[in-house]
Amino acid sequence: MHLLSLPDSMSAAPSETPMMRQFQDAKRQHPDKILFFRMGDFFEMFGEDAVIGARVLQIALTSRDKKKEGALPMCGVPVRAYEQYLNKLTAAGYKVAICDQTEDPAQATGKIVNREVVRIVTPGTTVSPQLIDPDRNNYLLAASLDLKAQRLGVAYADVSTGEFELCEFAVDQLPRLYDFLMQLDPQEILLPQSRSTAESEFLETLTHRLGQLLDQVAPPLAEDAPRTEATPGRCQFIDPYHFDEEAARRNLCRHFKTLNLAGFGVEDQVHGLRAAGAVLRYLEDTQMCNLTHLTTLRLHSVEQAMLLDETTLRNLELFEAQSGQKRHTLFHVLDQTVTPMGARLLRHWLRRPLLKVEAIEERHDAVEEFSRQFLLREELRNLLKTVQDLPRLIGRLSLPVAGIPDLVGLRESLEPLQQLPVFYQRLEAARLRAIGAEFDPLTDLLERLQHQLLEAPSHRLSEGGYIAEGVSAELDELREISRNSKEFLNRVLQRERDTTGISSLKISYNKVFGYYLEVSNAHKDAVPEHYIRKQTLVNAERYITPELKEFEEKILTAEERIGKLEQELFQALKAQIVAETTRVQQAAQLVAETDVLAGLAHTAEQNRYVRPQLKPLGAPGSIRFRDSRHPVIESIRMGEPFVPNDIHLEASGCRVMLLTGPNMAGKSTFMRQIALNVLMAQAGSFVAAEEAHLVLVDRIFTRVGASDNLSQGQSTFLVEMNEAAAILHQATSQSLVVLDEIGRGTSTFDGISLAWSIAEYLHELGALTLCATHYHELNALAGELDGVENFSVVVEEHGEEIVFVRKIVAGEANKSYGVQVARLAGIPTPVVERALQVMQELEATSVGHRLPELTPSPRPLAQVEEQAAHWTRSQPDAAPAQLSLFAESPEWLETLKSLDPDQMTPLQALTTLHDLVRQARTQSL
Ligand code: ADP
Repeated sequence: MHLLSLPDSMSAAPSETPMMRQFQDAKRQHPDKILFFRMGDFFEMFGEDAVIGARVLQIALTSRDKKKEGALPMCGVPVRAYEQYLNKLTAAGYKVAICDQTEDPAQATGKIVNREVVRIVTPGTTVSPQLIDPDRNNYLLAASLDLKAQRLGVAYADVSTGEFELCEFAVDQLPRLYDFLMQLDPQEILLPQSRSTAESEFLETLTHRLGQLLDQVAPPLAEDAPRTEATPGRCQFIDPYHFDEEAARRNLCRHFKTLNLAGFGVEDQVHGLRAAGAVLRYLEDTQMCNLTHLTTLRLHSVEQAMLLDETTLRNLELFEAQSGQKRHTLFHVLDQTVTPMGARLLRHWLRRPLLKVEAIEERHDAVEEFSRQFLLREELRNLLKTVQDLPRLIGRLSLPVAGIPDLVGLRESLEPLQQLPVFYQRLEAARLRAIGAEFDPLTDLLERLQHQLLEAPSHRLSEGGYIAEGVSAELDELREISRNSKEFLNRVLQRERDTTGISSLKISYNKVFGYYLEVSNAHKDAVPEHYIRKQTLVNAERYITPELKEFEEKILTAEERIGKLEQELFQALKAQIVAETTRVQQAAQLVAETDVLAGLAHTAEQNRYVRPQLKPLGAPGSIRFRDSRHPVIESIRMGEPFVPNDIHLEASGCRVMLLTGPNMAGKSTFMRQIALNVLMAQAGSFVAAEEAHLVLVDRIFTRVGASDNLSQGQSTFLVEMNEAAAILHQATSQSLVVLDEIGRGTSTFDGISLAWSIAEYLHELGALTLCATHYHELNALAGELDGVENFSVVVEEHGEEIVFVRKIVAGEANKSYGVQVARLAGIPTPVVERALQVMQELEATSVGHRLPELTPSPRPLAQVEEQAAHWTRSQPDAAPAQLSLFAESPEWLETLKSLDPDQMTPLQALTTLHDLVRQARTQSL
């Protein structure tokens, strides 16, 4: 890394001031960060940092040493409000180093005040509540790479909550890694600077793909953001030494104060540990304090939960809707949690549906009990509403940024926890009982906070006013002095008035003379000799006395001492609380789980969900829903009710469902609703149906719609095939696969051939498959293969109009109604009518005929191609017929083109329109 370029005025040694040398030293150590340099009441930025700062923060850019040429750009933010500016920079993706004064300027007489970088804030390590979403984690992730061992180690931590986990992947499991990272959505990723060409090539592919994946979920830096060294993006390369195994083990043991890492069950995760070492070191380097709230290191087991790939996450709109609206997501519909940690846990559950029937049923039992015990549940949810973000509160408390509001928040959150044990006693479900048995309401912590913190404390750490009476005898005494000062001054005033006879005598205070006596000019002569005159005003004189000076000294030192003492007591209290971090984190975890389970019950009741009956993974069973609904669409539909539908997919029966029907009939909705309901069931929720019997699935794959990914430089068809390939490689006989219009992105014959062979492959594999297609030709598969069945969406015809009934029935659709749908979509009547006419012509010339019969396996693709070629050869009229359709444009269209609406009166326009419609209709007859 090279230094951020500094203008000459800063690098020219002779003209440097000692302070600017301090700045340069700090900047040299942190060239990739924006440096906030403390000068009095401001944090200043200099040089290129200032240029970026002024632009991102929208503040004025000035310059230091204006008279000189090449003056140094500079801008500043007030110390009092600097957090908000810091947040803006971090949100824009920048890293900021805070270089603060580390000694009291008043003590540093005759020399320059010491300054040091005391904190570094980066997107993945910020703990600012304004910046991190309460219902999301903010992860910093590191990945270590060992190409010889073909392993990739991953570790990640959320410094705001204290979570810290690791896992490993084989190098050839890249798609799994990408899916995993997509789910985790880390804000910052640390990678080792590569040591070999092979490594750098590998890392380049990785970062390129990550850039594509992660930018989809969080917007990149603003377009006009300058790309300088202080612009990191999400991935950054650090010295490979940070990933050294020995150093990692040593540091982790030092941090957890253990002899080895066996207790965490991660001893043999060499690669994961290397990454964990890098995470810990980076956190220590940025936070510059002991990270006591990182209390444990867990092994993240990829196998225990279902992995949802990026395409499925996106297609099913779990957390992000394609419409961009939050309320159009499954998370939004299901989320009735009342605490931030509950919302985060629900997200986690939805991202990682379970695979073990016992674990899922434990959740279902709890949801069922909460559904039955309505009053208890609502009472409990009301209580939990007052619990704040416990993991983040305790996390902040162990960092230097902690303040009084964090302690107050903790106290307020611990109060309702005291009532929780009574609730758990009234609950029977096994999981809720287990939570109740484990739950510690942290009464001792609450008592400590209640005893030591004032009821309504001041939030100004340096000024005092937050520690309660009775905590420190010294503090109580000093406060007494301070409190009595008013009384003392009143006594002095009264005495002086009596002795001098000046009834208008006043005692006041200002910063220049401290306490003084004020006498109006009329009584000037009555002033006694021991008064010392300090100031003459137009109408009055101001005096001090030795007695007042002595008093002032006592008061001011008392107040200063109160401020210092309270800060010390705050630090001591904080340390006592922080020592109990693990207990707070455990309690928070149990509260979060209770919140999610009660919330899911609330959702189930509100949305009329039912408990699904489950069969274990791999057991003979089916996916059977009676009257299933789409949980999101039913919640956002106004007026028209959602039409429910049944489904029965079974390994030994219909395992591939071929669904045909016109566009807009409801095919995609139906298929997604099945996938969503299965996912909900395995995540622990009830489902949107009247009845559900489900065998667990190991994965859910979706390939829905011909989504365009041109922003990533890939054509629609390539993306479609990539996604299909990923499914074909990874699906098993226990997977649920949803394919919507596969093969649409290419020519008809290619498309049919591919859709045909993909459906056949999945049938062979035994995966439970839902496949919607507008290629009616695929219906032939049902006749050939056991286990493939045709279904269609009912459409009613009323003359030339159609009505969508939204019912799925057995049997294929006989028409595609494309033209009628075009009419519904607002295509002008003449065009629709013309299209109907064209269709008739095509049918008459047999262009609209279906493909001749296609034969399924053993080698379908070759045969399909061969048959398709044969069919084309046997249709000599096809091409001319097609051409003739577009040979000349009709007269009405020519007239339409020649019109100039700007030159027409409304009446002329109306008459012309009538004419045009008449012409178009006559011509289309
Ligand atoms: P297709 O995939 O057949 O083109 P979609 O599934 O996109 O059709 O459905 C089109 C629209 O119809 C959806 O946006 C939805 O609002 C509505 N819709 C679909 N299924 C139903 C249903 N079962 N009940 C009510 N409205 C539905």
